[in-house]
Order: sequence, then C-alpha cells, then structure tokens
Amino acid sequence: MIKTKEKAEIGIVGGSGLYDPAILENVKEVKVATPFGPPSDLIAVGTLRGRRIAFLPRHGKGHRIPPHLINYRANIWALKELGVERVISVSAVGSLREDYKPGDFVNTDQFIDMTKNRIYTFFDGPTVAHVSMADPFCPELREIGNRVAKRLGITMHERGTYVCIEGPRFSTRAESRLWRKFEADIIGMTLVPEVNLAREAGMCFVNIAMVTDYDVWAEKPVTAHEVSRVMAENIEKVKKLLYEMIPEIPPERRCGCDKYLEEAIL
Ligand SMILES: [Zn+2]
Repeated sequence: MIKTKEKAEIGIVGGSGLYDPAILENVKEVKVATPFGPPSDLIAVGTLRGRRIAFLPRHGKGHRIPPHLINYRANIWALKELGVERVISVSAVGSLREDYKPGDFVNTDQFIDMTKNRIYTFFDGPTVAHVSMADPFCPELREIGNRVAKRLGITMHERGTYVCIEGPRFSTRAESRLWRKFEADIIGMTLVPEVNLAREAGMCFVNIAMVTDYDVWAEKPVTAHEVSRVMAENIEKVKKLLYEMIPEIPPERRCGCDKYLEEAIL
C-alpha cells in the first residue's frame, strides 16, 4: 500500500450525475487503501478557492456500483484517512410531496432508515459504540448551505426527512404512499449508512439532495428524458452551490460534531 501524502479538510461525495471534480484545481487522483477494501473509486484531491478538497464519486466513475453494493465504510474511512473533517454529500432523490419539485434542492435534516442489508458501523466489537443520531446533520454546514443557496437564488428547502430504501428497485405504489404517511419528504437509496459512519468517524456531514422527479405516489409518469434533463440542470446548480459554500466554511469547527463519538463508546 502506498501511503498518500495528499491531505484534504473537506470531502465531497458525489451522487448520480456528479462524477467529476471539475470545480477543483491542481487535482491529483489518489488511491487510498482501507481495512474494508477499496473505496468506490480513486479520490480526486485538489484545491477550491484555497481550501483542500477530496472528491469521491459514490457510485464510481460511470456509475458502476449500485446503492446496495457501495462500500460505505471504505468510502468514509478513506476520506478520514486523507484528513477530511467535513463531508458534503450530494445525492439525487425523488420527491414525496407536491411542493418539493423536480429541480429543487433539499437540505436534509432527518432520515428514516428502511434499508435492509448494509453494514452500519465501524464498531463490530470488542469496542461497542452507540452514537446519538437525534440530529444527524451538522448544524454549521446546514446553515451555510441554506444561506448560500438563498444568496444564489437556488430553491433549497431548508429541511426535509429523507427515507432511505434498500434499492436498487424503486418503491411500489403502496410503499410510496406509506413513506408519505411517515411524513418523509424525499426518497433515495444512499444516505444510510454514509451519514452514520461519518458521525462515528467524528466528521461533520451535510446532505444536499437534488430532486429529480416525483416518486410513484404522484402517478405522474416521467420520462427518462425529463429526468436526465433535470439532473443535468441540477448538476450545474450544485457545482455553483459547492463553489460558493466552501469558502464560507470556517477553518475551525464549532458545531460539536467531533464530540459524538466520545459520548458513544461504552
Ligand atoms: Zn459539524
């Protein structure tokens, strides 16, 4: 294993449609080995407006890895290994409510985990940890996301509950109606366990969810063409958002996200 000398303070995990770190300068692609095997891809480490950033495409370049087979532990571990303390996770989601429209962004503040077969923790014993998840996302990063989106005129819903399903199939109509009864706002397949592993690793985590379509409850059939058009527009917007969010992140953390692990270990 080649120990990389590259370091980064902020990690971006790119979701569907966001595979390249085009907004970074002086990019070096690094291979990071972890005790859990390789992460989804090489990690692009570069500079954005003076900050050191690590970019990882969650599904690998070309979208090779389906949501249920992503090595979430390797991804978070690899970012941690590079020195990352804050993770900005970007994901494409379906909407479970009329007013969260395709093309809108959601700054997720809660989640419901309906996944079935994933590895959810770094702590398989003998050390046992139960991290608090009452507020799963970094308050500091969430505030920056909301503020910067407003400044840029990007429609960002300031909160939203994300129901994470196992996939790779989409929901049945009955399931989709049920998620709405759960008061979930958006639906996707990748937030869990990325968010809980980041917390176990003492990292700050924020999720920028980009709505691509209404989930099946709406009975509004969408064409693949429409979805890809919205997705392409979302990607341009999210790059702008990241470009403006990153310089706003203060160098020192004052949010307390690094304290969760201390309180969690038995
Ligand atoms: Zn934080």
